Amino acid sequence: MNERDQAVIEEGRLVHACPVNGSGVTGCCGKTLYEIPVTDRVTQNRHQVTCTDRENGSAER
Ligand SMILES: [Zn+2]
Repeated sequence: MNERDQAVIEEGRLVHACPVNGSGVTGCCGKTLYEIPVTDRVTQNRHQVTCTDRENGSAER
């Protein structure tokens, strides 16, 4: 984890899993990018995902 990732966590921002092609929703909580607060971020690196709200969406694929 680098300093930038740590800063994101300290600011209390969630990092969501970037939607995969064809799904349009995040892999972590099943939300579209429009449903995610603008302060939140998305990443393609699943190890950087801090969103743990997997109840609504598809968890592991
Ligand atoms: Zn999420």
